[in-house]
Amino acid sequence: MTARVLIVDDMLANLKLLEARLMAEYFEVRTAISGAEALQICNSEPPDVILLDIMMPGMDGFEVCRRLKSNFKTQYIPVVMVTALDHPNDLLKGLEAGADDFLTKPVDDLALITRVKNLARLKRLTDEMLMRATTREQMGSVDAVGGAVLQAGRGGRILLVEDRKAAANRIVTALDADHDVTYVTDPANALIEAPDGEYDLLIVSLNLEDADGLRLCSQVRSLDRTRHLPIMIVVEPGEEARLHRGLDMGVNDYIVRPVNTSELLARVRTQVKRKRYADFLRSRLEQTVEMAVLDPLTALHNRHYLNSHMKTLFEESADRGRALSVMLIDVDHFKSINDTYGHDAGDEVLRELALRLKRNIRGIDLACRLGGEEFVVVMPDTSIDSAYLVAERLRQCIAATPFFVGDQNGSIDVTASVGVAALEFAEDTPDLILKRADQALYCAKRDGRNRVVADAA
Ligand code: GH3
Ligand code: MG
Ligand code: MG
Repeated sequence: MTARVLIVDDMLANLKLLEARLMAEYFEVRTAISGAEALQICNSEPPDVILLDIMMPGMDGFEVCRRLKSNFKTQYIPVVMVTALDHPNDLLKGLEAGADDFLTKPVDDLALITRVKNLARLKRLTDEMLMRATTREQMGSVDAVGGAVLQAGRGGRILLVEDRKAAANRIVTALDADHDVTYVTDPANALIEAPDGEYDLLIVSLNLEDADGLRLCSQVRSLDRTRHLPIMIVVEPGEEARLHRGLDMGVNDYIVRPVNTSELLARVRTQVKRKRYADFLRSRLEQTVEMAVLDPLTALHNRHYLNSHMKTLFEESADRGRALSVMLIDVDHFKSINDTYGHDAGDEVLRELALRLKRNIRGIDLACRLGGEEFVVVMPDTSIDSAYLVAERLRQCIAATPFFVGDQNGSIDVTASVGVAALEFAEDTPDLILKRADQALYCAKRDGRNRVVADAA
């Protein structure tokens, strides 16, 4: 993954060092030697992540961070504060200024790359959320989404696996004010709990007394239902080898003991946000895919889906010598329903008709709205005689009970005509069957409507 990183430091040597390490990982790097320059770059060409030194002459890192986070244009750019080990209070001050993560000097390579990657991914998701938010009618106002983006890192559901009580308490206490933490001592319980708890983050100690935390991580990664659950591991200093193995198997982040509260809060917030944005975007994608094949008015399949799927059903039946029938349904004098009661009442009739249609067919039948007031149902393993009976039952179900179209217009009588046809000939195609159903429908209309006609073939 590549991302644009801005490094801010008043010491040229520091800039060069970080720049070289990030460029070796194929990040695009820019540098600034003062807070003022950093703010100017963020306004004109916002980067994906900022590495921000604290001690700088003029404007210090805290002030730069505060300004970035209070400007609507730059507030979503993740900020990593680069702190000195001998100033422990810097972490808390950084968190208060709105920092998203911390690195301690001298900067460790693995820490640098892990943090930058995490935040670059978060930034990408944030950008995508905001971009989609610009279609207002789908997402509510942009402000609401912006607010959600800023709030999303709080109130996370967190599952903690740690079998040493003091260590667990330390983490629970740190997170309790902002998040909802469930704490288990046994990885086996975590594996039962994780898939059902709708968690935003799993925190696993790598120093469990009776179990291997990494094994749990690998199991969580490989199970379908927990694949997307972010994992953070807690390690002792010097556990490089196991830490690398964890990151290689897809652990998202780590924190080294003794756990610093500010650092933990910042990292947990990043993971919780990422999880929520990713969930949101995934559900939007599913919706988009659904919308491409469904008719928005009736939620039946659309013509596009019929065209692709009827071919499959047809081939399966033809290849195995099985029956296949089709019925084509058209509302009678629908234009005059629209003219008399209005277009909205017409829509209501179509929705209600789709419901009655659904109730009269089987789950394996394919029901589609072709457009306007025309519907089609493809029925596998159904002879033309059976299809006729289904069509007749549907016709009666429509004609027997008036359609309620709202308080103003009350209920109105609706009828429909149906043409039925079936797979009959060696040279049949989906189009030919539909054409015969259409001819049968035409006969039903011509003979007085509110009737079913089966193709005589
Ligand atoms: P027939 O009995 O011969 O089928 O007559 P009809 O009036 O039902 O048929 P026609 O094809 O003349 O009119 C269909 C009408 O359906 C015309 C069109 O304005 C209306 N229509 C098409 N799509 C929609 C829709 O989504 N909602 C509503 N309310 N009306 C629609
Ligand atoms: Mg009609
Ligand atoms: Mg019509």
